[in-house]
Amino acid sequence: MPAHHPGPELLFDYAAGSLREVQALLVASHLAYCADCRRQVAELEACGGVLLEEVAAEPVSDSLLDAVLATIANAPAAPPQPPPEPAKAPNGVLPGPLHRALGGSLDGVDWVRIVPGIHLSGWSLGVGTASACLLRMAAGASVPAHRHTDHEMLLVLTGAFSDEFGRYRVGDVASYDPETPHHAVADRDGECLCLLVQDNPLVFTGALGWLLNRGFRF
Ligand SMILES: [Zn+2]
Repeated sequence: MPAHHPGPELLFDYAAGSLREVQALLVASHLAYCADCRRQVAELEACGGVLLEEVAAEPVSDSLLDAVLATIANAPAAPPQPPPEPAKAPNGVLPGPLHRALGGSLDGVDWVRIVPGIHLSGWSLGVGTASACLLRMAAGASVPAHRHTDHEMLLVLTGAFSDEFGRYRVGDVASYDPETPHHAVADRDGECLCLLVQDNPLVFTGALGWLLNRGFRF
């Protein structure tokens, strides 16, 4: 059972279908690991249904009804809903929603080495400035010092890592507010794979960061 969960406002927005696609992917993937958050999302969805049923019926004009029906018909599809039970991909590593977003298993993923021991996937999902990709940390490797100008979230898929705020294992979500410096280090006994979701690209700091921000890779 995970120890670190998405915040209540994220679960609320997910249940309401108003979460942006990349954040919805991370929450849906966490739900595959977390019975507690699945129960909370189910309760929020049930509350939403009751609220809709309790709205008193009012007579409306034909033109308003047509406008409402057209709006519903043109509305974007709701984000993927959580499966009732944990849904792991056939390889047993990726939760179902992430497996579907990747379009297959990890075997087909290309990796870009940032520094020795730290790779980002060539695969990414982007909506505006927000993006999701995979972060792979070799055993004992640390992500180069960086800061971010907006929110960042990590969902652990394999292994574990630690930072100033705690230790994160499979299914855990680490959430960082804008301008929060943190130093993620993978456990020494194995690789750590995470889903990384950012509202804006991160900015590496220090002399090494100056080179990384200009596209140099090591
Ligand atoms: Zn949870």
